[in-house]
Formats: sequence, C-alpha cells, structure tokens
Amino acid sequence: MSFNLQKIRSDFPILSREVNGYPLVYLDNAATSQKPKQVIDAIVDYYSNYNANIHRGVHTLSQEATDAYEAARHKIQAHFNAKEACEIIFTAGTTHGINLVANGFSEILKKGDEIIVSAMEHHSNIVPWQMLCEKTGAVLKVIPMNEEGVLVFSEYKKLLSNKTKLVFVNHISNALGTINPIKKIIEKAHQVGAAVLVDGAQSCSHIKPDLQKLDVDFYVTSAHKMCGPTGVGILYMKEAWGNKLAPYQGGGEMIAEVTFEKTTYAGLPHKFEAGTPNICGGIAFGAAIDYLNEIGFEAIEAHENELLKYATEQLLEIEGLKIYGTGPDKTSVVSFNIEGIHPYDIGTIVDKLGIAVRTGHHCAQPIMDFYKIPGTVRASFAFYNTLEEVDALVNAVKKAKMMLS
Ligand code: PMP
Repeated sequence: MSFNLQKIRSDFPILSREVNGYPLVYLDNAATSQKPKQVIDAIVDYYSNYNANIHRGVHTLSQEATDAYEAARHKIQAHFNAKEACEIIFTAGTTHGINLVANGFSEILKKGDEIIVSAMEHHSNIVPWQMLCEKTGAVLKVIPMNEEGVLVFSEYKKLLSNKTKLVFVNHISNALGTINPIKKIIEKAHQVGAAVLVDGAQSCSHIKPDLQKLDVDFYVTSAHKMCGPTGVGILYMKEAWGNKLAPYQGGGEMIAEVTFEKTTYAGLPHKFEAGTPNICGGIAFGAAIDYLNEIGFEAIEAHENELLKYATEQLLEIEGLKIYGTGPDKTSVVSFNIEGIHPYDIGTIVDKLGIAVRTGHHCAQPIMDFYKIPGTVRASFAFYNTLEEVDALVNAVKKAKMMLS
C-alpha cells in the first residue's frame, strides 16, 4: 500500500468521532494507539467463529485456534527477525516481560553484582530491578542524561566492569521521544559479559528492530502501542537464556510432566507461558503487525518525522514554551511546558477542544526530577495523524495560554 493518509484514517473507526463537539484529535499515541478495523475484525472473527482453548484439544475449533495463535507467533518472529519462533514468548505486555526476566535473574545474581539502567526509564523498567537488587544484594547504577535528554555514553562506559551482569535501557523514551543508541550500548555491555534487555514499548510502532542484527539478549514490547489490543505483548529472549532462566509462574501449559514428587518443565516458549493465554490478543497482535507492514515502516517513519518537525517548529513559536527532549535522534513525542502554567491545566483546556494529550510524569518521575518539574504536556503522534491536527493542537495550546496567563 502506498501512503494514502485519507485511506489510512478511514481504517480507524474512532477517528471519525467527536469529543466535546469537536472532531477528535488523538495525540496520546505513546500511551496507547488506536485500532484499525482490520484488527477489530480479527477479534470479532475469533470470538464469532473459532473461540476455543489451544494446544490441548483434538477438536476442530481448538486446532483452528492453536494454528492461528502459533501463526501469529511466527509472524511476530519474522517481523522482528528472531532466529527461532520459540524465542518469542507471549506476555501480557512490556511490564510482564520485564518482571519475567527479573524473576529469572533472581536465581543468577549474587551480592555485589551490578545492574545498569538508564536515567530515562519508564517505572516498569526501574521498579522490578530495584526489587531484584533488594532480593539479591545486587547494586543498581544509573547512566546519566544531559539537558537535551540524551544519555551520556562516556559515563555509561565508565559504569561497565566485570561486575556488570545486566544492562536495561529503553529503545525510545516515552517521556522525551529520545531514540537511544542501543546497538552501541549492547556492544559495550557484551564486551564485559553483561546481558542487555531493551524496552521496546515505544519503539515498535515507529521502527522495525532487527533483533539478530542488534544481538540483543532480551527485547520486550506491548501490542497496544502498535495498533493491537491491550493485555498482550512479547518477550524475545535468546534461546540460550530461555534454557537458563527459571520459569516465572507455575501452572498448566508450562510443564513436561507433573507428579507430586517432581515436575519437569516444557521447553521454550511454553516454559514461560503458564495458564490459558490471551489467545485472541495474540491473534489480533499478528493482524496489527500485518497492518503496519502493509503501510510500511519507512513510510510510517517519514510521515511521523514530518509531524514531529512541524509540531516542534509551531509550538516553539509560542512564547514561554519549553520542549524537553531536544536531542538529534528523536521520534514522535513532543513533551513541553509553558512558563507559569501547570501542565494539567493545559491538558484540561485542550480536551475541551477535542484534543487528547497526556499530562503528568508519564511514569518517568526521575526525568521530571532531573528537570525539576512536576510533569509535562505530552503530544505523541502516530502515522494516522495529520498536519491539520498539529495546527489544531497549536491553536488550542495558544488558547489555553491566553486563558491561563
Ligand atoms: N516502557 C515504556 C517506555 C512505556 O512507554 C510503557 C507504557 N507506557 C511501558 C514500558 C509499560 O508498558 P505496558 O503498560 O504496556 O506494560
């Protein structure tokens, strides 16, 4: 499909609704994306025609559901260029995937081992590691960032040593839009024998990571940021790690054999997929990936970059407006404040004009502490947004400023 914005917008039923008497301008895509009818249809089709539990039934419906669920896993494997389908573990989302890995490492880490996270992590990539440190006696170190919202690579290199066992960094910051140099970060970590987990919650709707090329150990993401449903995501882990890490939850599906004396575990990916999974969610995630690939990530990136550039230029015309996250490698997020005005007040006024933005700390309080602010107004773009919607945002922010100054 060539990039036909009008046709793309017509795929998203929600984009034709009104909010408070104005056409909806949805600029909260970093929180969750909207869903095209191709994904909604996949959900309706599953529940209307072949809903059944998977993997353990001989009947036709169960086999159809199993085939569709496993086909989605293969689709996701191909999309991310994982070597094996068994390296793709279905999860409930990014947070679940991170906690699963943290749990596995609780039996590997020893007192005095070091874990490195970046200063621009989402809380879901901070709290599980703090809990892991409390449990194991490992020590948490932080890669600092500069005023532009860019990680200081020279400081990262200084933190690395043979004590470093794990490095965690997000691919793209949800609060700033900064794209982190994950290839370089992974290379350096591997030189000291540390494993790397990349949080791809924000990246996978904008770019298509090649996991084998990156040589990353763990990569997590959520379907709902990529036009798929909530409550489903994936954890990629290299097969060798999958064989090494202990399972996260015990239950059905994840076993080879159970007796009251001893249980043996299934191989990958089932070892980490206890219980009935989100079958429909996995299938709909596959449909979302098909949809995004049909548009093409080059076209998506080009359009989103145009929106970002235009929004940045237009917003900076407003006196007293400051943007956070001004580094050279950035995507789709404009986080800003206007001097003397609380971000929540701006968010409330623009909502009255039909515009959905997010206000607050964006689950990244350390970033807000760094800039000494309570939060920001965050407009985040998707490929279905338009330059006219950016104009609507800028006009609404100007109006809010006039009312609140
Ligand atoms: N990491 C980042 C960078 C995110 O933006 C988010 C979602 N806001 C998460 C992790 C958590 O994702 P989820 O809530 O889907 O588990």
